[in-house]
Amino acid sequence: MHYEGDHIIRPPSEAHSIILQVTVGCSHNRCTFCGTYKEERFRLKDEAIIAEDLAFAARHCRRQRRVFLADGDVLILPQHRLVSLLTAIRAQLPWVNRVSLYANAKAIRAKSIEQLQELKGLGLDRVYLGLESGHDPTLAAINKGADSSAMIAAGQRVRQAGLFLSVTALLGIAGATDSLAHAEATGRVLSAMAPNQIGILTLMLLANTPLHAEAQAGRFCLPDQAGMLRELRVMVEHLNLARGQLMSNHASNYLPINARLPRDKAAVLATIDQALAGAVHLKPEYLRAL
Ligand code: SF4
Repeated sequence: MHYEGDHIIRPPSEAHSIILQVTVGCSHNRCTFCGTYKEERFRLKDEAIIAEDLAFAARHCRRQRRVFLADGDVLILPQHRLVSLLTAIRAQLPWVNRVSLYANAKAIRAKSIEQLQELKGLGLDRVYLGLESGHDPTLAAINKGADSSAMIAAGQRVRQAGLFLSVTALLGIAGATDSLAHAEATGRVLSAMAPNQIGILTLMLLANTPLHAEAQAGRFCLPDQAGMLRELRVMVEHLNLARGQLMSNHASNYLPINARLPRDKAAVLATIDQALAGAVHLKPEYLRAL
């Protein structure tokens, strides 16, 4: 497979997927906490290279039933490119039963529900959307490129098209000062988006990011471990989903959680309380990673 750029990232639940890189970088690339594609100019990969990778996967990846389309923002491609890509995947990898991608709110809202339904009909199954926070001052401060109402509209559009929606939120992203306001707003916005799956990550400051520079200058301060847990508690407290999965199994988190909501909500809150009381083992700092 031809991978370009320094980082090929994928969600934890795509660990066993065929990673087919279609774009390089992220079309937005302005989030202050994200260092993944900072040195990368966003571009579409050459169609001939993608065709070679598909042919490689057809020969060598017959046991992998899922495809993840990398990099940061494949849904930003014009509809006709996505249609021909999904058609080619279906023709050449007929055993694949799930195709997923990352998308931002702008890319989702640039597609109509009918266009998203067309992509679903061609095999697209799952959209991963980074919300990070539902707190508007925080979304503005981190240059996310969308406010909470745009995020809710994007999430609802994905769900209305019948696609599986997985949304990530980021503990610590509002700093210590706005921690609990961020937690409460994020719980509420996630509830309005009604995702099938919520992934909670914990912010780790990366040296090549503006947010790291802010922290170095003393203008941004991460909550401590107990602060992160309190933030998680308030976020979960404000989550009201008819049905969904809540996961904090990413390597950046102190406390792993894998729960069904609303069924397990009380149990999750009780576990967080135990962790705050020191009765649950937390991941040591040196084992945390991105
Ligand atoms: S949209 Fe995602 S990939 Fe792009 S800069 Fe923001 S966090 Fe990074």
